[in-house]
Amino acid sequence: MLLLDGKIASQAVKKELKAATDKLIEQGKRVPHLAAILVGSNGASETYVASKVKSCAEIGYASTLIRFDDNIEENELLDKIEELNTDDAVDGILVQLPLPKQISEAKVIDSINPSKDIDGFHPVSVGRLVQGLNTFIPATPYGIMLMLEFFNIETKGKHAVIVGRSNIVGRPMSILLSSNTKYGNCTVTICHSHTKNIKEFTLQADIVVAALGRPEFVKADMIKEGAIVIDVGISRVDDVSAPKGYRIKGDVDFTNVSAKASAISPVPGGVGLMTIAGLLKNTMDAYLKRQQ
Ligand code: NAP
Repeated sequence: MLLLDGKIASQAVKKELKAATDKLIEQGKRVPHLAAILVGSNGASETYVASKVKSCAEIGYASTLIRFDDNIEENELLDKIEELNTDDAVDGILVQLPLPKQISEAKVIDSINPSKDIDGFHPVSVGRLVQGLNTFIPATPYGIMLMLEFFNIETKGKHAVIVGRSNIVGRPMSILLSSNTKYGNCTVTICHSHTKNIKEFTLQADIVVAALGRPEFVKADMIKEGAIVIDVGISRVDDVSAPKGYRIKGDVDFTNVSAKASAISPVPGGVGLMTIAGLLKNTMDAYLKRQQ
């Protein structure tokens, strides 16, 4: 069984980006700059944004963290995004989701300049992805593609079953795996909460991507012998014996599924780390495009 170790794969990506950043510094140029907006104090969002900012520092990027209270008005947030859109020193903008109820996520995503849309959620980025054009790929699916590339997983002609159809993971993943590219060319099935008998589909899969947000949903009896299993899920599950009072669980029953899979990504230490790698790559791409 091959462990799709996100630590090793993400470090390889970061090393490459750090070398490119060091070169910019040597040449006396400015470095890529990511601006992150965090609204409120959701525990998981705090952790995600902190690790994004920390990763920027590790590879030499500049970053700015802008924080707002939970009760911020939509217009205030849109004004800040507009300011960042026109700030020449900022290459990439990310707004950590979810946002409080009074703010329309769609409006916020639409307001980001597509040339700075390093999360790849803007309709322009999504449209370009669907058409196979150069674009910013949403960080998590991008990270998974980087993982497949790093471990040189053959995907051509395989049947990939994706559980989950969100705009940030499942749907873009289905586009990437079905694209005519080196780590694409799969036949793709997408399952969601209305799919009847999911097991019937996952049992046919050569590749399973579990992105539904239900801890340990994918059990060993849902997987065919030798399948490749990518676990995207991150859920906090209460556990009084854990130092923080909870444990992070993926969407796959790792212990039992790993005995059957030919390759599997762990949680934590898998796709989550690759998501950051994808985001950092998008930030460098945004920077380079803006230099042209
Ligand atoms: P989401 O927006 O809640 O979407 C979940 C998807 O799963 C929906 O399409 C939903 O179907 C489907 N689903 C839910 N319950 C199901 C069930 N019992 N059977 C089949 N399908 C079901 O979640 P998301 O943002 O895509 O995130 C999914 C998971 O990945 C979460 O645990 C999240 O924390 C994690 N995540 C991890 C990373 C990372 O970096 N590793 C990044 C993003 C997200 P419907 O469309 O029918 O509702």
